[in-house]
Amino acid sequence: MAGRLMIVGFDGGTWEVIDRGIEQGTLPTFRRIIEEGCRNDLRSTIPSITSPAWKCLTTGRLPSQLGAYWWAALNREEGEIDFHTSGDYHGKELWDILGFVGKRSLAINIPTTFPPNRINGSMISGPIIPEDSVYTYPEELAAGLDKRFGYTPKEEVKLSDDQSKGTAEIIRKNSQLFEISRSLRKGIEPDLTFLTIFLTDTVQHELWTTRNDPGNRIMEVWEAVDSKMADLLAELEAEGTPLIIVSDHGFTEMKARVHINQWLMENGYIVLKERIQAKVPLGTRIYRRIRSWLRRHNLTGPAKRVMGKKVRQGLAKRAQAGQEHGEEAVVSFNRVMELIDHDESKAVCFPDGPLYILNRDGTDIDGLIKGLASIVLPDGTTPIRKAWRTEELYASMGDDSGDLKGSPPDLVLEMEMGYDLSGGLRRDGSLTGSGSGWTGTHRREGIFMAWGEGIRHREFEEPFDIIDLFPTVLRRFGIPAADDLKGKVMPIFEE
Ligand SMILES: [Zn+2]
Repeated sequence: MAGRLMIVGFDGGTWEVIDRGIEQGTLPTFRRIIEEGCRNDLRSTIPSITSPAWKCLTTGRLPSQLGAYWWAALNREEGEIDFHTSGDYHGKELWDILGFVGKRSLAINIPTTFPPNRINGSMISGPIIPEDSVYTYPEELAAGLDKRFGYTPKEEVKLSDDQSKGTAEIIRKNSQLFEISRSLRKGIEPDLTFLTIFLTDTVQHELWTTRNDPGNRIMEVWEAVDSKMADLLAELEAEGTPLIIVSDHGFTEMKARVHINQWLMENGYIVLKERIQAKVPLGTRIYRRIRSWLRRHNLTGPAKRVMGKKVRQGLAKRAQAGQEHGEEAVVSFNRVMELIDHDESKAVCFPDGPLYILNRDGTDIDGLIKGLASIVLPDGTTPIRKAWRTEELYASMGDDSGDLKGSPPDLVLEMEMGYDLSGGLRRDGSLTGSGSGWTGTHRREGIFMAWGEGIRHREFEEPFDIIDLFPTVLRRFGIPAADDLKGKVMPIFEE
């Protein structure tokens, strides 16, 4: 069926992993895609984060045009964090435009698409989805997904407790999505299918440092994806449908987690309403010691049987209290926002880089920019590559309209590769240190591949940009892109 297109997105898809798998012979389908089709780097936006990066892919717009600079923005009036939902982003998405010309789309599991939009076709929202909410369009679709595939939209998988169980769960959920896509494509016959696999990001965040170990979990997840992709290729080949693969950002080893709000506090930009409690309460300390002793001796199971429900619940409560009052080394960003004295403070930084000036009159912004750029970590490195004024950053990417949509931050901090920017504060007052248990973090360069009917094998001199996908897809369907879009059509199709 000429004119159809399949896009598969991998959250955090990165060449380091895929190239190693190809080299080792464990990712034969990706090898085939690259050998027969083409590959390139796909440059993410700044900050290189799931939201807004997926939205840049599906709308062709920069964060300043979308009005989304992170997962959430500062509500300046209330001093609160406003999380974005799908209706907050400016700009039409691929399926909106295709719908105008009577083409059907199927959008599956793409982050930032909750709540689902009414489109010409079907949509299964991607993360983040609140529990018990309508997450499909049409709404009845959800019941069928549950009944036929056992699908629920919960994306959180914990790997820290039991890696083998967590990995199996990730593989199961990823495979489920490929099966759902296959089945719905048969039924709906969409012109465009856009399927996103999200949990590749999760396993990489948690287990990145194991990525080169024999039999590591990250490669296990990608190998399972590769075998699903083999089935997909067979289908697409029979149909004559080309395939595009994208990621929202790439991945790299985390060198340090930088708690920039600590620096802002030490330099007088942040004033807290109350002091952060540094000590772990006694009850929590005792509980933790019991728990770790039981774990060390492999007695968690027997202890559970002996203790009875009531005692266990009591202990669980203690653990909860510990997390709220000091067990964790870091005070969360949400809590920091509650603790900030918004009248006395001058600035606050959101995770991953958007920085808001709370008091523009009383703040020397040039001084702040200079200060941030001169931060040196204990190991002698400077983690901030550049503290951008927001309009300057997005003008450098092509949006010189001067019209920043949404609730724009005043600055956006661009970090050096491997330096993760936290919005929290460490209880011990240090500027760096873990807080998430993650060993991997995002990098700007992600993956792009194209394969199949009408796609030729060739090499590219320059990386593609995530805003280039949108005009490229429209070109495939013979639709011109709007003038204010800054992306370029990727030269992947035979003319
Ligand atoms: Zn991530």
